[in-house]
Amino acid sequence: MRVSRLMLVTLRDVPAEAEITSHQLLVRGGYIRRVSAGIYAYMPLMWRVLNKITKIVQQEMDTAGGLQTLLPQLQPADLWERSGRWKAYTEGEGIMFHLKDRQGRELGLGPTHEEIITKLVGETISSYRQLPINLYQIQTKFRDEIRPRFGLMRSREFIMKDAYSFHANEADLKATYNKMKVAYQQIFSKCGLIAVAVDADSGAIGGAASQEFMVTADSGEDLILTSADGKYSANQEKAVSKAAEPLLLKGDEPSVINTPGQKSVEELCSKQLLNPSQIVKVLAMLALIEDGKEQPLLISIRGDQELNEVKLINALTNQIGKLVIGINSITQDQLHSQGLRNWPLGSLGPDLEDSYLNGASSWNNEFLRLSDHTAAELNCFVCGANEIDKHRNHMNWSLLGGVPRKFDLRKAKDGDFSLHNPNQKLQETRGIEVGHIFQLGRKYSKALESSFTNEAGKPEPFWMGCYGIGISRMAQAAVEQHHDEAGICWPIAIAPFQVIVVIANIKDASQKVLGEKLYQALQTNSIEVLLDDRPERAGVKFKDADLIGIPWRVVVGRDAESGKVELIKRSNKEVQLLSSEEAIEALIRKISASIK
Ligand code: ATP
Ligand code: MG
Repeated sequence: MRVSRLMLVTLRDVPAEAEITSHQLLVRGGYIRRVSAGIYAYMPLMWRVLNKITKIVQQEMDTAGGLQTLLPQLQPADLWERSGRWKAYTEGEGIMFHLKDRQGRELGLGPTHEEIITKLVGETISSYRQLPINLYQIQTKFRDEIRPRFGLMRSREFIMKDAYSFHANEADLKATYNKMKVAYQQIFSKCGLIAVAVDADSGAIGGAASQEFMVTADSGEDLILTSADGKYSANQEKAVSKAAEPLLLKGDEPSVINTPGQKSVEELCSKQLLNPSQIVKVLAMLALIEDGKEQPLLISIRGDQELNEVKLINALTNQIGKLVIGINSITQDQLHSQGLRNWPLGSLGPDLEDSYLNGASSWNNEFLRLSDHTAAELNCFVCGANEIDKHRNHMNWSLLGGVPRKFDLRKAKDGDFSLHNPNQKLQETRGIEVGHIFQLGRKYSKALESSFTNEAGKPEPFWMGCYGIGISRMAQAAVEQHHDEAGICWPIAIAPFQVIVVIANIKDASQKVLGEKLYQALQTNSIEVLLDDRPERAGVKFKDADLIGIPWRVVVGRDAESGKVELIKRSNKEVQLLSSEEAIEALIRKISASIK
């Protein structure tokens, strides 16, 4: 391909819309163009990268026994109602785009495909003899993300590979899950990415075990906690740890203390000379439940700990027996719109009376009270007195009428000790989630009555697994991991082209002839090559070549007359002066060796 025919438009300046380097470089290199919030056009260079990744994914999925398929993106609402996910995905913070057809039937645009595939397999597979099966597809997914950002990292339309496996028993599901884990590691390493597997929360997808694959990068949206011995690694949403020991609050008679304006743990600590671990902080929150109910919550947690909202949602779902689709902190404004009197926010105690909810227009009129283990284990602490500007000192749970139900609700954080070995400290790193594998179990097959006949001749719901990879997010994650100040440094396996031949001065006849000759010869040898034949200054062309990140560059310049060219490796800028024949031979050798 000739650069003059590539509709390449590169930008020198950093686009205002792009916050992180990979996003900036993809826009500047002419790889993507924003159409609207979270909606991007993949330009021809980008499409080549995406196709390369797709091919590697297909190969590994096929090797793992996958069958490629393509499922509809328009999905009928009734299937999602049967699985119990329609409301969670379309209301509150739900991310499914949905619409009505001209007959008034509701449809959703596929954010994921468990429902469709579970129905399909239930209708086509009848016996355990036909199992296991593993179906995969690569297609555009739609998610109405609340905060689309960082270009392809979190967009509203993106390319995903999703696979679904069906099994006669749990052991067989586990075997395929492990096989898929190996396939994922192969995919990331073949694409030139360093990705680590971490324990993960299963989220709204559901199921038992799940792991995410994280590309480590400072700009990553996820926080990963890893023990120094490497034996434990988890997304912070899921991570467990041992909290630091609290500082003892020396016993004395319970008393009420004046705490004017001291609403936060920090203010209270600095004015009352307390340590945060001596305080039980009480958070007033509201949970939105799938049946439309709104449940007020009082959550007690030790003052030095932070609430993990994912753990809270899981604990609530468990406790209530219904899916919780959103939580938020209760504000005075919300109290007013419910027609409630002011609450002593900033001085709440775990025993705030239910009468504060009397007359609420849509909220449930009793609190659901939960505590984190760290708060529940304190014997003597400070907490709010349910009166503005007042707290209680030397309190204990029996004075408060007992400990609320205990859960692990806190965020594990850097410096905590791990549970598997209390001598191992956890360390934080940031990561970009590029893949996620789940043991779904029988959640969907039960809900959608999708079953097979087992060995005993009885109908039984399928055991299922599901496995996603964000193809477009992964392409950008590769840029985040492989770039320098001049631009992208694509790993060769997913680079849009392997070589760029730059004719320094297109008006120089010998340069032009030698450049064309090299271009032809490399093509004949099945090397994917770009020829920069534009009538631009050499400096402009070199800058563009660096920016778009082609792994090898051949510069045909002043030495063309003597048949010599420069061969430059993009990643380390190593330069070799070679005859054109030597350059061709070196490229063939190096490229075939670097592509596994
Ligand atoms: P996240 O936590 O980042 O929102 P998720 O857990 O909802 O992602 P999954 O349902 O596990 O995502 O989807 C499988 C894969 O699809 C993810 O691992 C990720 O690589 C990719 N992906 C998910 N959402 C997006 C998005 N909005 N834009 C681009 N890729 C995405
Ligand atoms: Mg995920």
